[in-house]
Amino acid sequence: MKIINHRLFQDDGTPFPFIATPNMGGELKASYLVMHYTAGPSADHSIKWLINPTAKASAHLVIGRDGSITQLVPFNRVAWHAGQSSWQGLVGMNQYSIGIEMDNAGTLNKVGDQYQAWFGTNYPADQVIEAAHKSENVKRAWHLYTPEQLFAALEVGSLLVQAYGLKDVIGHEDIAPRRKFDPGPAFPMASFHSRIFGRADDQAAPTVEYRTRVNLHIRTGPGSQYSPLPHSPLPTGTRLQAIDDSNSDWLKVRVLDTIQGAMDMQGWVSKQFVVRS
Ligand SMILES: [Zn+2]
Repeated sequence: MKIINHRLFQDDGTPFPFIATPNMGGELKASYLVMHYTAGPSADHSIKWLINPTAKASAHLVIGRDGSITQLVPFNRVAWHAGQSSWQGLVGMNQYSIGIEMDNAGTLNKVGDQYQAWFGTNYPADQVIEAAHKSENVKRAWHLYTPEQLFAALEVGSLLVQAYGLKDVIGHEDIAPRRKFDPGPAFPMASFHSRIFGRADDQAAPTVEYRTRVNLHIRTGPGSQYSPLPHSPLPTGTRLQAIDDSNSDWLKVRVLDTIQGAMDMQGWVSKQFVVRS
């Protein structure tokens, strides 16, 4: 795909569907990419809402569960996706970011052997992950993204970062913490980030890897009084990447192996039970 005059096209010149919305502001000089979920029943439903003037909300792109991409706002105009938000000294992130909405039901409630969205649709267990959001300690159920959707997001995200020189990709949950929970723990942000920025990150901070020496609990904070994360304990030999080595006894890590389907888990482990690899 490619960008011509701030619109998205296929390599062969076919434009992606563009549905204009009145819900947009003035000129945008974006520095960030912000990822969202729609918390809605379908991409079409979300698009209809985001072009409705009463919504006072929009996004540059909506990505369906089949990987289809619809553009609502040109990339050089402000979309209304972030609301009250701030990041690294900037306030009101609509002015500084391109927003991508992914069709996803969001948080779900267990009803029998199914999981129900707030709008009433039930989803089977194989479309759901139970995980704690990084700003919470309790596990909740989250609708999974599809591989097609994640692939499309990665492809268009990489293009946008390159075309507009974006500095970072972040979640709505990062710029409006505790008010927003999207894209949530079902979105593999760490690998998404490293696939887009991997090389630059590697140069900035050489990664230090460890392995667990025993079956080891990974916890929400630096101490045994903190609760273990949902997929704890990690099996012996699990590969870890150090994120924060400033505590004398506890190491903050990213889990590099997929543990029981959980990708990109981050937490704290006791330094006694890990070894440099
Ligand atoms: Zn959002």
